[in-house]
Amino acid sequence: MALTACPECEGKVSDKAFACPSCGYRLAQQKGGSAWPGVLGGVAGTYISAQTLVAIIVGSIMFVAFAAIMIAAILS
Ligand SMILES: [Zn+2]
Repeated sequence: MALTACPECEGKVSDKAFACPSCGYRLAQQKGGSAWPGVLGGVAGTYISAQTLVAIIVGSIMFVAFAAIMIAAILS
């Protein structure tokens, strides 16, 4: 197993990985294999990216809501 650089984010990624773990970029198709593992990896990569995005958005909303509740509690 060797590490290679992701063409999208320059992060280190295994040459056996289907998609970049950092940015979800779909890497080149596996040599000599059928197409489905690459498709599966692309779907998984997209799913991980979407999950990360949702976590960031939800985290931001929770932080603002928590801050608002704390300010309201202090002022009351
Ligand atoms: Zn990447």
